[in-house]
Amino acid sequence: MSRREELAAGLGAVRERIAGACAASGRDAEEITLVVVTKFFPASDVRLLADLGVTDVGENRHQEAEAKAAECADLGLRWHFIGGLQSNKAAAVAAYSSVVESVDRPKLVGPLARGAATREEPLDVLLQVSLDPPGREGRAGVDPDALPALAERVAGEERLRLRGLMAVAPLGEDPATAFARLAEIRATFVAEHPSASWLSAGMSGDLEHAVRHGATHVRIGSAVLGSRPTDK
Ligand SMILES: *Cc1c(COP(=O)(O)O)cnc(C)c1O
Repeated sequence: MSRREELAAGLGAVRERIAGACAASGRDAEEITLVVVTKFFPASDVRLLADLGVTDVGENRHQEAEAKAAECADLGLRWHFIGGLQSNKAAAVAAYSSVVESVDRPKLVGPLARGAATREEPLDVLLQVSLDPPGREGRAGVDPDALPALAERVAGEERLRLRGLMAVAPLGEDPATAFARLAEIRATFVAEHPSASWLSAGMSGDLEHAVRHGATHVRIGSAVLGSRPTDK
């Protein structure tokens, strides 16, 4: 099988899973944006994916993302930054990303807005909410308690467009339980910010649970591209 055929098969299987999950919960598959996570895979794969109809790709490391976005600038893709963000890199990330999904602290807001000043369109921002128990090591995401204040900070920036929330199901917890909790957090959040209704949740292993609990964006890597060569 050629690489193109492999990717086409992976994409087809994932699109079927999304359609199945939507059918099971009475949702329209058109409501779901598939973000294909291309981290660790070469720009040549991104090019094949674009040719196969992918419009949105996700990356989690600044250097790799910046290089690939430049190499694939002719493809008109939307780049989603989904990784841990350092405040000294945030302005640079805002320059090539269409969506930054991993905003989890106020310190990032100023640099992102500065970086977004050079863009034609405001930068779409999702706030990453932690579903982990407090104190968990290596935990990313804002505590649900601190979410309202962070949302106000982002909403107050003209160059940033608050679009919604992002979350990752914690290791060691049933994703169905975690995403049920996320759906509650989101309901409260959307009541305050009605135009910020995107919900990015669901990966290769748990997309069905995420769709059932209201995801509008799923971030899928290995189910499309295969296992990552050098994942850490
Ligand atoms: C890598 C990554 C994904 C994709 O994970 P798969 O299990 O390969 O689908 C999704 N979201 C985030 C935040 C990631 O870092």
